[in-house]
Order: sequence, then structure tokens, then C-alpha cells
Amino acid sequence: MNADIIKYAKQFRIRVLGDQLFKPDAALPCEEYLLSIFKKEAIYREEKAIKERLKQARFPTYKSFKEFDCEFQKSISYEQLNRLETLEWIDDLYNLILIGPPGTGKTHIALAVGNHAAEKGYTVAFHSMDNLMHVLKTKDISAKSKARINWFKKCDLIIIDEMGYLPVTQLEAHLFFSLISELYESTSIIITSNKGFEGWAEVFGDAVLVTALLDRITQRCQVLSFTDESYRLKNRKSIF
Ligand code: ADP
Ligand code: MG
Repeated sequence: MNADIIKYAKQFRIRVLGDQLFKPDAALPCEEYLLSIFKKEAIYREEKAIKERLKQARFPTYKSFKEFDCEFQKSISYEQLNRLETLEWIDDLYNLILIGPPGTGKTHIALAVGNHAAEKGYTVAFHSMDNLMHVLKTKDISAKSKARINWFKKCDLIIIDEMGYLPVTQLEAHLFFSLISELYESTSIIITSNKGFEGWAEVFGDAVLVTALLDRITQRCQVLSFTDESYRLKNRKSIF
């Protein structure tokens, strides 16, 4: 390919031309040829953006709606799952709280929403409660933590997984409350927890703070309580 074309393609960051991924087709009329370049470039950029959003989200693993079995977990119907999958509730700043014992699919649903949202153009962050606490506590001494908190402010959706397994100190409770207070009017929040709301006061060690927290989070919110047995235990695999 003409060296000048490659030079300009690089200058204008048209990757499909610059890297010669695109083979010129003399049989195509000029207009169609140009259109096909733009289309390929648009697809390339979209795929790159999806990869970047998935990376920024820091999902521990990939889960999809398709893999979720509502016959096993009867606390949620396929219709409700489809409703979650539309992601419209994120545009409307609804929050989602998933409560239930271990292994009942809370993290699966949170990840399915998160992965799908990132693929559809939403900016997402995923953190375990424990890791989130670390980020909040180190924001003044770690550039990485500070950058992450700045990223939260750009997020459409923040997923906080496994709240309630570990106790929260008074400092952590206040940092968490400040974060939620700052975000809840501009960001959808998903929280998964093994404890019902009545158990949150104990986790945070402050009933007044939890009341104020729930007041903010539950203003626009869907709570799903999973009560069935553990999918992990039921589908446990063993060596012998
Ligand atoms: P929790 O977060 O409630 O402790 P997970 O979502 O981590 O549970 O589920 C544990 C494992 O079981 C995961 O691998 C998840 O994909 C799977 N799982 C749980 N519930 C279901 C379900 N209803 N259908 C399909 N897989 C499920
Ligand atoms: Mg979990």
C-alpha cells in the first residue's frame, strides 16, 4: 500500500488502513470502498472499547444470563432475569441488592449484569467489599487507589460483592457511607450480601449509619432474596 496512505492512516489513527489489515479491492467503487473502511474501523474501535471496559471493570470471572438456571433458583424468574438484561434500570439509576446464603447465585447474577453492561457500553467497576475497603482506606497514600476512586465517579454501575462476610471498622463504615452518598444519585449500585438488612447494622456496628445508608440505596431499588440451597453444594464435583 502507498506509504503516504499508511502515514496518514497512522496520523488519523485509522487502524484498519494503517496496519494494512484492510486489503484494497479494485472491483469496489470508490464510495463503497471508503464505506467498507469506515465500517471495519467502527467495528475495530467498538471491540477495542469493549475489551477496555471489561478490563477496567476488573471482573474476577465471566458469567452470563444464559448460564443461569431459574429452575434451580426459584427466587428469580426468567422474566425478571430478562428485565435485568435490558439494562434499562441502569439508565434509570435503580440499584440491585441480592441477599442470600452462599452459593445461591448472587455473584453470578451481579457478574452477568456487569459483563453484559460493559459489552453494551456502560462503564462498570467490580469489587469485593473487602477490596473496596482497601481502596478507600489507601486513597491518600496510593495513586492506584486514588485513580480507582476517580474511575468510580465515571462509572454507570458499581458492583460491591460479598458485603457482610467480614466485619467493618468504624473508619471503613464511614468511608463506605461517604462513597455511597457521593455516588447514589449518578450511579447504579449492585450489592450482594449473605445478610439481610437487619444484619447490616451488626456488620457496620452503627444502626444510625445503616438506616441512612439504606435510605439512600433503597430509594430506587430492587431487592432479591435467594433462599434456596447452594448450587455449589448441589453440583459439587469430587475426585473419587
Ligand atoms: P453466591 O455469590 O450466592 O455465593 P455464586 O453466584 O458464586 O453464589 O454461585 C456459586 C457457583 O454456582 C457459581 O459458579 C455460579 O455460576 C453457580 N450458580 C449458582 N446458582 C446458579 C444457578 N441458578 N444457575 C447456574 N449456575 C449457578
Ligand atoms: Mg458470591
